[in-house]
Amino acid sequence: MTSLPAAPRYRLAVRTLCDFTAREGDLDHRFTPAPTALEGIAGHARVAARRGESYQRELPLCGTWEGLALSGRADGYDPVANRLEEIKTYRGDLSRMAANQRALHWAQVRVYGALLCAERGLATVTLALVYLDIASEQETVLTEQATAEELAGYLAGLCRRFLAWAEQEVRHQAGRDDALERLAFPHAAFRSGQRELAESAYKAAATGRCLLAQAPTGIGKTLATLFPLLKAMPRHKIDRVAFLTMKTPGRRLALAALQQLGAQDPAERLPLRVLELVARTKACEHPGRACHGEACPLARGFYDKLPAARQAAVAHGWLDREALREVALAHGVCPYYLGQELARWCDVVVGDVNHYFDAAALLHGLAQANGWRLALLVDEAHNLVERARGMYSAELSQRHFSRLQRHSPPAVASPLKRLIRQWQALLRAEPGQGERCLRG
Ligand code: SF4
Repeated sequence: MTSLPAAPRYRLAVRTLCDFTAREGDLDHRFTPAPTALEGIAGHARVAARRGESYQRELPLCGTWEGLALSGRADGYDPVANRLEEIKTYRGDLSRMAANQRALHWAQVRVYGALLCAERGLATVTLALVYLDIASEQETVLTEQATAEELAGYLAGLCRRFLAWAEQEVRHQAGRDDALERLAFPHAAFRSGQRELAESAYKAAATGRCLLAQAPTGIGKTLATLFPLLKAMPRHKIDRVAFLTMKTPGRRLALAALQQLGAQDPAERLPLRVLELVARTKACEHPGRACHGEACPLARGFYDKLPAARQAAVAHGWLDREALREVALAHGVCPYYLGQELARWCDVVVGDVNHYFDAAALLHGLAQANGWRLALLVDEAHNLVERARGMYSAELSQRHFSRLQRHSPPAVASPLKRLIRQWQALLRAEPGQGERCLRG
């Protein structure tokens, strides 16, 4: 671990470094569903509340290594016990957690340990992985002692593996920004109203404000909003642009506009990485199989094959659904999960609104974790309220509920029966409801 006198060249989150360098083996999603983000936050707070007064929550840590500027927040540190904790909430059987997931957790706490020792001049530290079962509230704690020297060596090893990629990213971003500075509108003239829309979109992106725009069909709205956001990218330090749509045709229009701007043309291409995100059901090559190495060949050894697949994908640059599938299958990895990985490294992501607005949305999570300035374009934004209702509503099926009531112990069955009676009364009072489901 060395501190450089020069300004750091590449910023990255501890989580990103670990995800990139410390994962190996199969993709394995058997140890799911994970707790929701809110359950996770509440679980962290419960663990912290059990600790002593000296316990420091959400400890910010940072450091540099060979031009890599790392930052993140360790879940908790007790300076009296000199113990650093990484807290993970879970539900289910902890023994079913895949070994590579556990290894990733150790990597995180070790990197935080290295940063902590360097920052505070500690010679040793106790590292702890705290697994909180959100159902029983029981903690399982794994600990290890580590010296500052061991941890610095470990961190240096991870950084070394990331350095070539970081250098490539710096080059790519410089080339991209240079090309975007020179990017010209692809038509000789703007259509009526198109320039006004483009100017308003640019100002909104430049000032970090929201713009709600309504424009008639046929003026070229997609181009009139994508073009100014791309122009604003280098000038206003926008890290990523996301074009989010309600339906597939909207995605196609966005990709067509990006093609017009030269993002797909290999000869005189705009060096822009464009990724189309699609739902798992649409991208899956083996529907009906489970996402783990024993069931699906494209999950087997996924993380071992990922570096080559990721490199080939970013070299390709234009990653619509078909191109992404081609790259993924050439490397024997799942197209859907390769797309999830590439969302970290692409400049423009075209996807559904749920990729940002859903409770566990990929793009929102990445923007938060990496501190991105993300510019969002939402097509048909007037439909967002209805889509959000769908994303944030829980649904109860009367048929499932009645079955549950029939198989419940008497102490639970009786209140459930009363609830079902009220439910039926509600449905009688609201005859137009039709479907025997409750959403709320
Ligand atoms: S191909 Fe389908 S089953 Fe296999 S890992 Fe991908 S999404 Fe899961």
